[in-house]
Amino acid sequence: MTIKLSQCVVCGHKALSNSMESMEIEENGKKFTIEKIPAQKCSCGEVYIDAAASKYIDKQLENFRK
Ligand SMILES: [Zn+2]
Repeated sequence: MTIKLSQCVVCGHKALSNSMESMEIEENGKKFTIEKIPAQKCSCGEVYIDAAASKYIDKQLENFRK
């Protein structure tokens, strides 16, 4: 399922900008940071991640759990 966002669902703003996000995950007391996640960000601070990016996150998590 791929949804192409053209508008922020939180504030309705139409100009989402590309950004690189990082995400911190804590699992079993271990901290792991995933960096350079391609995302779209609204000026209200809401971040949208597409299917390719969530696959990338899954992959990084897999590596982390090994
Ligand atoms: Zn917004």
